[in-house]
Amino acid sequence: MDCIFCQIAAGIVPADILYQDEQVIAFRDINPQAPAHLLIIPKRHIPSLAHLSEGDLSLIGHMASVANRLTRSEGVSEKGYRLVINCGEWGGQLVPHLHMHLIGGRKLADKLG
Ligand code: AMP
Repeated sequence: MDCIFCQIAAGIVPADILYQDEQVIAFRDINPQAPAHLLIIPKRHIPSLAHLSEGDLSLIGHMASVANRLTRSEGVSEKGYRLVINCGEWGGQLVPHLHMHLIGGRKLADKLG
């Protein structure tokens, strides 16, 4: 298993885990870009958003729902926050395991890049 996020999901590599259930796990980004920067990932290895099958569509909804719940415990739900999924090289995806960034706790730049 050479995927770092699979290793976190399996408990082989430590992470600051805030939530997990059968399908997903959420943990703090190791290189936070804002006071709150979490990653929500499926436990199952899916390389990117481009690799989602029809049967996986509810998974994205579940990831967003978990992110939404975490905005409250992180104290960012009222001021606002951003959910980002980078996909592929030009999308800026560095880790080839599907993940949703939850970023908040400061006013974010209004650029999309
Ligand atoms: P992306 O550019 O969308 O692929 O984002 C990958 C994110 O994973 C980056 O924000 C990294 O800081 C984060 N990351 C990489 N390795 C780890 C790790 N071991 N634990 C937590 N976050 C990580």
